[in-house]
Amino acid sequence: MAPLEPVYQLKCSCNSYPWGRQGEKSVAARLCAKQPGWVDQKDVSKPFTIEDKPYAEMWMGTYPTLPSYVASTGENLQDLLDRHAEVLVGNPVIEKFGSSMLPFLPKVLSISKALPLQLHPNKDLSSKLHEKHPDQFTDPNHKPEIALALGEFEAFCGFKPLQQISKLMHLDPLKKYLPSIMKPDFDDQQLKAVVKKMLEADDESVKQTYKAITSLSEPDFGPDIYIPKLAPRLAEQYSEADPGLLVALITMNYLVLQRGESIYIPADGIHAYLSGDIIECMARSNNVLNTGFCPRSERDNVDLFISCLTFTPHSGEEAMLRPESFDRSKKHKTIRFAPPMSEFDMLQTTLKAGEKESLGAVKGPGILLATEGSAKMKANGMEVELKEGQVFFVAQGTALEFEAGEEGLLMHMAYVE
Ligand SMILES: [Zn+2]
Repeated sequence: MAPLEPVYQLKCSCNSYPWGRQGEKSVAARLCAKQPGWVDQKDVSKPFTIEDKPYAEMWMGTYPTLPSYVASTGENLQDLLDRHAEVLVGNPVIEKFGSSMLPFLPKVLSISKALPLQLHPNKDLSSKLHEKHPDQFTDPNHKPEIALALGEFEAFCGFKPLQQISKLMHLDPLKKYLPSIMKPDFDDQQLKAVVKKMLEADDESVKQTYKAITSLSEPDFGPDIYIPKLAPRLAEQYSEADPGLLVALITMNYLVLQRGESIYIPADGIHAYLSGDIIECMARSNNVLNTGFCPRSERDNVDLFISCLTFTPHSGEEAMLRPESFDRSKKHKTIRFAPPMSEFDMLQTTLKAGEKESLGAVKGPGILLATEGSAKMKANGMEVELKEGQVFFVAQGTALEFEAGEEGLLMHMAYVE
């Protein structure tokens, strides 16, 4: 048997959803084509090539829907981890999560139009849904996630402050979505009633509201001046009768992130990404409830959706996830995004041509992506040429050193310990 290595290059794949960027325009597809990606799980030696279709998400990790394989052997990464759990994953992580599965799932997303308006249900509801409908809810886990912008990234994320929503709700065309009994102060329960009414409205009613709000003048919207501009774009992507349009524009934060900025979506948090290329990482799950920006037939039950809604974040600022310094970065070229959950943190290393970085070992497994550029990498002393698009599994206890090539290096690594 071959001795174990500190890092294993992986072969990953990229899926195709209608909201993905077309062909070569998709960063997810371009990165996937630069590593020994696969297109067919039955024969992973067949290479990934870019066709003229929308590419949405490159997945890196061990979730069975789109798993990664060891590049040199074609073995499913999870099988390797199961055989050598203690050495590769490490006991602290196995004990904490109860298995040798990676508790996180990083992806690269390329978004050309709004993803379905969605939330990822909490653990309790996920396990119930998984038991009842295992085909639709393929695991019992929750799926809090972070999204890190690689360029300009637009997203609807969480709810606006109550006062701001309340002001908009008193515009004439929106009053019909207010609850019949109004409390003196607009609160989260009333907001819930508003979202429910919007989601339950019939096509004709949503269409009328769309027409009415798009004929108001800009000053009517106060600080939310973007609403009349954004509404036609969303209507063109889906339909004037899509209720996601009302919920997103009136009740949710519309954020435009710049490269390097990040947001955190807790379990049960409402969100809809709108455009851009991002690094995403989530707890190991694929559970989702969709309610808008998709055909009626693909929408989940409104009552179920409403029953688990959380009201965090409740402002754009609260949705932002600010990076921290990473205590094991020797040259301070690495920052850490640490969401308030235990399944993973994300490191981002940025090097100019020839610059170096050393990262002290972490006590758990990691998945590393050369997002841009290249470097000479040393993993516990083993030398590896790291090229753009390549993805590596990093075993627990592995110290990493980088020396960037001529184009510099942008590296992301999700890990847990
Ligand atoms: Zn999501």
